[in-house]
Amino acid sequence: MSGLRYASARRHVVEIVLLKWLLLFALGFLAYHFLVRGRSKRRIRPEDGSVRMVTCAGCGVFFPERDGVKDADRVFCCEKHKDQWGKSH
Ligand SMILES: [Zn+2]
Repeated sequence: MSGLRYASARRHVVEIVLLKWLLLFALGFLAYHFLVRGRSKRRIRPEDGSVRMVTCAGCGVFFPERDGVKDADRVFCCEKHKDQWGKSH
């Protein structure tokens, strides 16, 4: 009976050690992914940090793209310039 108890206790220790390694591995994997994804996110989405600047097709002024008015492949600083450009072209 004592041999059986020893075997089950030993198995328990092995399970704990395996769990410890698995946890360490999972933590390392998560940390690695967090760092890599955090870096690549900043590269893929530049609007988070820096604003993309565009030139108005009507008056040539430099302004942030998100503040502009889009018309097909052109960007304008305001609706007025978009209408003016549409009439003159
Ligand atoms: Zn303009």
